[in-house]
Amino acid sequence: MTERKFNIGERVRAKWPGSGLYFEGEIEDFNDIEYLVKFDDEDESKLAVKYRDVAALTSFKRSRSRSRGRSPTRVPKSPNKKTSKSPGRVQAAKRSPGRPRASSKSPARISKTEITMLNSTANSSESNKSPSRASSRRIVNSSASSSFSQNSRSSNEEKTRVTSLRQSPRLSSDEKSNDVKNLSAKPSSSSGSKTRRWASIKRALATVWDVLLPALTSLPLIIFIALAPLTMSYACTKKNCTVLEVPTFSSQVKQYYDIRAVAITLGLLVLHLVLSYIPVRSRVLPNGAKARTNGLVLLLVSCLLFPLAHYFKLNVSEVYTLLRPLIVSHAALGLVFGLALYIKSFYAPRSNRNPRIVGHFLPDFIEGREVNPRIGSIDIKSFFIKHSIIVSSLLLLVLVIREFQLTTKANYNNEFFVLAALQLFYCLDFLLFEENFYSTWEYTRQGSGYFLTGFYLTMPYYFIVNTRVLMMFRSPLPWYCIAGIVVIYLAGYILVRGANNQKHAFRTNPSDPNLAHLESLPTSAGTRLLVSGWWGVVRHPNYLGDLLVQLSLCLLCGFKHGLPWLNLFLSFASLLHRIYETERTCSLKYGLSWSTYTGRVKYKLLPKVF
Ligand code: NDP
Repeated sequence: MTERKFNIGERVRAKWPGSGLYFEGEIEDFNDIEYLVKFDDEDESKLAVKYRDVAALTSFKRSRSRSRGRSPTRVPKSPNKKTSKSPGRVQAAKRSPGRPRASSKSPARISKTEITMLNSTANSSESNKSPSRASSRRIVNSSASSSFSQNSRSSNEEKTRVTSLRQSPRLSSDEKSNDVKNLSAKPSSSSGSKTRRWASIKRALATVWDVLLPALTSLPLIIFIALAPLTMSYACTKKNCTVLEVPTFSSQVKQYYDIRAVAITLGLLVLHLVLSYIPVRSRVLPNGAKARTNGLVLLLVSCLLFPLAHYFKLNVSEVYTLLRPLIVSHAALGLVFGLALYIKSFYAPRSNRNPRIVGHFLPDFIEGREVNPRIGSIDIKSFFIKHSIIVSSLLLLVLVIREFQLTTKANYNNEFFVLAALQLFYCLDFLLFEENFYSTWEYTRQGSGYFLTGFYLTMPYYFIVNTRVLMMFRSPLPWYCIAGIVVIYLAGYILVRGANNQKHAFRTNPSDPNLAHLESLPTSAGTRLLVSGWWGVVRHPNYLGDLLVQLSLCLLCGFKHGLPWLNLFLSFASLLHRIYETERTCSLKYGLSWSTYTGRVKYKLLPKVF
């Protein structure tokens, strides 16, 4: 089996499907067997090319044959560059029996209209065509489609048909002869050497850029993920929780390290790992993988720690005093697991490799080289997100217990309890609908690297920022304000839950009678896109719902403290990034169907605004 040699963005020469000719282009994406190559023709055709038919630009220069003998794989320097081939030879190639006439056609002459994405209806009509007509077409596997995606790698239905590899009738005989002339004229040697020098300078610069840019962008992200929650905790002083002052870090070791914090961190992780091995609520996912939707069971068992601690006369609210050492131990664990997953990925099955890896340590360490790593029967990605949600819930309960202990009934901090209840509800909701996680972008496409381990393990400490703010600084609100905020929360919750449920149900069973009222678009990938219901309001209704929920949690804290709002801003930035990421992938995967969808549902996040 040919190994993959190139990464996204690399310049290569690739064999134009159906011909023996190689042309320059750029790697746009890849899956297990093919690259998606964007050719340098005027239409920037994107075609799937097998690994073995893609070569480095340099390898051609070295191996260019001087032989005058005709060879079907003889390579012109580029579609429009001049070669020493005689016109006769090009035409002879066209004449060779059994070879599609247009196979020698340069990419520059294949127009966009000739590359059509056909949906299932079109596929069936195609099958009725005469064999000779059908054979004059080339079928290229999933050029801009889901063979480049994770969850539908196995889907054979997705085909992009590149039509008219026969000569286009538009092409006059004059044009043909011009083209042949172009191919046959020889470049002057001085311009050739200049071009080569320029190309090697560009290659050297690209290599430096390739190494430096990922390092420059990845390092700050690693530092940010590791330090942000601790910095946030120091940003909360007795005066306020601000983002306007540089926090002063303590120099005392006990602020960062406490054996009890390490024991709690490791204890909870081991408990959840052990419980995950118990075959409770095992199910087979739509992609064939096995998973355990056992989050609620893990939470219930973890909650037994509270009565257990009470029995042993341990005061659980003291966990609050260990917050900083807990943050440090979770951040350190995130780094350790990030490294472990990075090393593990080298032994991962090829089918599970992340197509977005770039081949450099730092970016691949962050992004993750594997998409859905497993340890035995445990799916690591879903394990980490469940663990994170459960730790968040336990921390919230610790804060609630502490608040009960410190205040009297007459003096209850109502806003705090409302906030804690809404946050706990959001955690429970995730665990209750855990199955939906397996049809999200995060599960099906995001790599499992340090971003996942580092962020998920420290997420509980971002999550409780608002609760801590209200615990430290009361922010009394009239009841109607609290009621209004709860309404915003519920609107957001209904949106996020409704949209996620609708998509999950539709993805699991598109012919579900409960969804019969929804309109959908067929795609070349065999799946369908919802264009009505929640997914007809905006293209990311679940993100909008998520943002409304988070907005309501900030509003409860008032406007005096900047930290909760910084959290909201970070969430917004991450969702914005996700919007562009998912849309890029979907447009590659679904092509024409995605454009139809975006034409019909015009707004990404907020109707009439964005
Ligand atoms: P999504 O649940 O938004 O999934 C995106 C995928 O949904 C697409 O890749 C596509 O999958 C499918 N899809 C898109 N449009 C349609 C349509 N019209 N009809 C049918 N399917 C469609 O993935 P995420 O992982 O980004 O989000 C999951 C949850 O996590 C959300 O609730 C989100 O709010 C939350 N989240 C929160 C963040 C935060 O910072 N607070 C950050 C990121 C996520 P396919 O290719 O399989 O067709």
